[in-house]
Amino acid sequence: MEKVIIIRYSELHLKGKNRGWFERVFAVNMEKSLKGTKHEIHRHSGRYLIENFNEKDIQLICDKLKKVFGIHSYSVALKVSTDMDEIFKAAKEVSFKDGSFKVETHRADKSFPLNSMQISAEIGGRLLDINEKLKVDVHNPQFIINIDLRENGTALVFNEFFKGAGGMPVGTSGKGLLLISGGIDSPVAGHMIAKRGMVLEGIHFHSYPYTNMQAKEKVIELAKTLSVYTCGMNLHIVSVTHIQEEIHKKCNGDYMVTLLRRFMMRIAEQVAEKCGAQCLITGESLAQVASQTVEGMTSSNSVIKNLPVLRPLCGFDKDEIIERSRAIGTYDISIQPYEDCCTVFLPKHPVTRPKLADVLAEEAKLDVDKLLNEAMATLEIIKI
Ligand code: ATP
Ligand code: MG
Repeated sequence: MEKVIIIRYSELHLKGKNRGWFERVFAVNMEKSLKGTKHEIHRHSGRYLIENFNEKDIQLICDKLKKVFGIHSYSVALKVSTDMDEIFKAAKEVSFKDGSFKVETHRADKSFPLNSMQISAEIGGRLLDINEKLKVDVHNPQFIINIDLRENGTALVFNEFFKGAGGMPVGTSGKGLLLISGGIDSPVAGHMIAKRGMVLEGIHFHSYPYTNMQAKEKVIELAKTLSVYTCGMNLHIVSVTHIQEEIHKKCNGDYMVTLLRRFMMRIAEQVAEKCGAQCLITGESLAQVASQTVEGMTSSNSVIKNLPVLRPLCGFDKDEIIERSRAIGTYDISIQPYEDCCTVFLPKHPVTRPKLADVLAEEAKLDVDKLLNEAMATLEIIKI
């Protein structure tokens, strides 16, 4: 009896004409995720089967598949021919040693002489005959034996449905540029948007030598963890050291963060244009820290010419964000100590509700275009 993994996908059925394209992107993503592990992926009427893998790799394969967006649920099943004796053998194999159960049959192969109810009754009866510790309970069973008769003469027998990552296949919703710091929030924001099918590139700003090289290593680690979900990622790294020095020298220091944010957004938009990203994504959450106010967002949005800025965490509390970051595996990296460029030259009394006119007056003291060009010249791209 061969073990296979049944992959069920979610929401793809909503996409009408594009369905074929969605399924292809989805299959390519699964291939990427399973690269290096022996397997074959086959499409079978509205689901995929992973077959021909080494049985010792099952856990590894399932762990990888848990990170592929678009998978609604999956099951490890026994694949047998559509024959009652074979199905019974498989049912015995997946059956618990004792307890209450029921058999549920789905019959795509309508030519099979027994209907679903008859198959369930027959297999259930045979199991009861050989094991007196089993009993049938159709309302509240301790386990279910699922039998799925496919059209191609094979039957799949399994008992558990495991929840997949959900969402849409990465690559079906365009591309976004994630502003990724070394903190907890931005990786979570990226994960949420990737879950809706968006390819991500990342951009990180540093103030070396005011911030150390470990900060960069940490962001690379975060991007690596995230890239398992996003099927790879380019990370753009830009120095804002000189920008911060200039702000420090020429402007009211209370506007450091506000002005720096505007530079970050401008640089991010330029990089997005270069790499074909259609939006920017940040990890801001409304009122989480003093600078994350709607006035602060107004000030940083107003430098963006064309792109929408997605802030998926706006409605989340910090503990909800932490829970997600633990679940996706970025939390332990994020909490390692580091200095963000936003903490360099940090004023004692940063403006929290900046008025745009005041921001513009401070910014007028700087040669914005020259600073932008200088910063863009430091751009380094790392392929994760
Ligand atoms: P995070 O946990 O993501 O660092 P935060 O709560 O520390 O967020 P801020 O420091 O106010 O919040 O940053 C808000 C957002 O601005 C971040 O989520 C990120 O998207 C972006 N950002 C901040 N610093 C950087 C940086 N050095 N490089 C790239 N983006 C940054
Ligand atoms: Mg931060």
